[in-house]
Parts: sequence; structure tokens; C-alpha cells
Amino acid sequence: MVWLQGQYLIHLKNKILETGNNSNTTLDFKLVAVKCKNCDSGLVVEVNDNITYCTSCGSGFEIIDGELIPIEINFASPAMRGNGEPVYRPFWLLKTTVTILERNASGNFFKNLFGSNNPTGSGSVMFYIPAFYCSLDNMKVLAQEFTMKNPVASPQKFNTKLVGFAYGKEDAKKLAEFVLISMEAEKSDMMKTFKYNIDFHSLEIIGIPFYKISENRYKDAILGIEI
Ligand SMILES: [Zn+2]
Repeated sequence: MVWLQGQYLIHLKNKILETGNNSNTTLDFKLVAVKCKNCDSGLVVEVNDNITYCTSCGSGFEIIDGELIPIEINFASPAMRGNGEPVYRPFWLLKTTVTILERNASGNFFKNLFGSNNPTGSGSVMFYIPAFYCSLDNMKVLAQEFTMKNPVASPQKFNTKLVGFAYGKEDAKKLAEFVLISMEAEKSDMMKTFKYNIDFHSLEIIGIPFYKISENRYKDAILGIEI
């Protein structure tokens, strides 16, 4: 699959704007009463959320056509101190194998990934894709930095709230492709061809802690990126 970066960016920007508009137009926070399939506790689901986490037993569910389908949800421990209690934001964690079929660029990411100067080859990549609504710029920075550093070695169950899911599985896959392309393209203004294949092995959710630093600014407690 080959995308021209410019077109892809515009396509994605429109998509994010559409999604943003949709969530802005449904500002009535209807709460739906749902019971956890594993422990029968009541789950609070905001009407736009398609994922829910049971704070009683740690089960995660994706809501598809009103059905609760199990999905793995874990959390990362804060790696740095901040003011107040951290708020957990959902990220998609995508385990993939990326195969580079053809490239004409000078980015370092794949050299590091494949451990050589070989411009093609394949390797495992764990993509961290914000699942909550944020600007395209913030999404890109968070996704690129977390994906390159893969900083969460041992995710675990926490008894904490996780809400604000804006993007589902299919969005997450498209965003992972976008991040792959942007990591490669931004390192070279000479990129002409980039053919790749991504095999998605599993999609899980990870809660990443953020500290509030001012009215609309947050800093993640793992890498310290401000958004
Ligand atoms: Zn439960």
C-alpha cells in the first residue's frame, strides 16, 4: 500500500475533524446502565464510549451492537512525580509485524528497528495510539514517542477510572499506519516510495497516567510529554 503523505494527512485530518464534530454535537451525557459480565458490578458507560472498564474486577469490554465483548485493559504505573493524582487516558496498544517492501528515504527508525542499514525487512512494532480525543499534532507526538520508546514493560490492573474512548479498533489501525508513515516521511524530504505491510496480531488497551499542569494542559507521567 502506498500513500502520498500529503493526501493521507488531509484525509486523516478530515476524519479527526468529523469525529470531533460528532462528539461535540452529542454533548448530552446519557449514562447507560450495564452490568459486568464477569462480576455483575454496575458499569458506567458514557454514551459515546465504545469501551468500558470494570473497576471491581479489572475486566475490559468492547461494546459492539450492545454486546459486551472482552478486551484486555491494563495500566502503566507513573514513572515520574507530578502535582495531584494522575488521570488515566486510554491508548490502543497494537502488536504488529511491519514489513518494509520498498523504501527510498533516509529515516533512522527502520534502521534501528531492523538493526542494520538494510532499507527493507521486517520486525515487530508495538504501536501506542491515543484512543482519546486530542489534536492531530498531540496525537502524532504521543504516538511517535511512545511507539519508538515502547516504555511500558509490565502493564498491570489498577482500580481506577478509564473513560473518554474516541477511537475504535479500525481507527486505531488507520492511525498506526499514519504514524508509521509520518515517522518515516518526516525524516526525509526526498521520500518517493514507501511500500509496507502491517500485520496486526492483537489490539489491547493501556491506560497511561497524565498530570494536569494547567487548565487545558496535561503532561504524561511516563515520558513527560506535554499536550
Ligand atoms: Zn467486573
